[in-house]
Amino acid sequence: MAGEGIMSDIAPPLWLLAELTYRCPLHCAFCYNPVNYTDHSSELSTDEWIKVLREARALGAAQLGFSGGEPLLRDDLEVLVREGRQLGFYTNLITSGIGLTDKRLDALKDAGLDHIQLSFQDSTQELNDFLSSTHTFDLKNRVAKSIKAHDFPMVLNCVLHRYNLPHVDKIIDMALAMGAEYLELANTQYYGWAHANRAQLMPTAEQLKEAEAVVERYRNEIGDRCKIYFVVPDYFENRPKRCMNGWGSVFLGISPDGAALPCHTARSLPGLTFPNVKQRSVREIWYDSDAFNRFRGFGWMREPCRSCEEKTIDAGGCRCQAYLLTGDPANADPVCDKSPHHEAVINVVRKAAIEREPDEHPIMFRNDSNSRRLAASHDGRGPDYHIVADLAGVRK
Ligand code: SF4
Ligand code: SF4
Repeated sequence: MAGEGIMSDIAPPLWLLAELTYRCPLHCAFCYNPVNYTDHSSELSTDEWIKVLREARALGAAQLGFSGGEPLLRDDLEVLVREGRQLGFYTNLITSGIGLTDKRLDALKDAGLDHIQLSFQDSTQELNDFLSSTHTFDLKNRVAKSIKAHDFPMVLNCVLHRYNLPHVDKIIDMALAMGAEYLELANTQYYGWAHANRAQLMPTAEQLKEAEAVVERYRNEIGDRCKIYFVVPDYFENRPKRCMNGWGSVFLGISPDGAALPCHTARSLPGLTFPNVKQRSVREIWYDSDAFNRFRGFGWMREPCRSCEEKTIDAGGCRCQAYLLTGDPANADPVCDKSPHHEAVINVVRKAAIEREPDEHPIMFRNDSNSRRLAASHDGRGPDYHIVADLAGVRK
């Protein structure tokens, strides 16, 4: 039974993520947007977003992230930041930096923006530009300087995988040279486009071990100068992450067309209709919708999670990962070695260690034509093809 035993004590959402648009000038191979994003191209109006911000703040949300796609493609970004700040949110812009001119930085400062997270794909121009399928490295460097010149606290974000893990020391040097207060070394999570490119992106256990040692050495050397986050990808663990701190627990994502999501990638799950802020209030969505209640608490769990003494620690892991790897989102996350499907994860990691021809599986970059192709073939949404392939160990 969905949400069994917890309906009376649901906490309000703390973190509101406003995905303003799926449009983006970059084409990252690991993009976390849905692979079929071209199926959802409509966008909320400025007034509709303002209504969302007001309703979420009234419910208790405190942190507001603006992301996408590239949120700078919305020319009402400054209006929304100002509204969010006036409502009392802590506001964060999550950006590729493309379009972040000095003029816009001035306007965002004036609107009260608190914080900027800037993404790089690598410390080298060659790899940065290859992985985003653009020529943006120099521009991003200029943007990083402007962000600091405008006195914004800055997180540098770099998604890690087998291509750039050997460059971790250079990526840290780059962050230090730019004066970033935080560096998020975000090991790839295999959803969306990263799942479609998993065979190409999955690192080896040795690469991860070496990168972790480098990070540890830097942490000891630089102290508080820059805080470095580095989380080992969960395919290499035997317990799953507590995804979004638990379904419907703290996170409320609103996608560009207004669909409300309990996690960034929940849209890929079958059998759930995600409520839309155009039809329902944020309060109704958070407390009463089937989508937000379906995997809340513990009542939905099957064995081995149902009777597991660790269920309060990891909440059974990630529903999207359970779906992508087992075909059923109500299963235990197969990262867990108590899951009968754990072998699927072991197979992926094992395959990653095997040398292969670089062009054996060409990378599929995020772009509209690939999105339409994946949407039409249903390949990218994860179900049958990936499950069968994962379990048979063929598509690694
Ligand atoms: S991951 Fe890359 S392509 Fe996807 S939204 Fe971010 S910058 Fe754009
Ligand atoms: S069986 Fe389920 S609840 Fe127990 S540790 Fe594994 S994923 Fe977590």
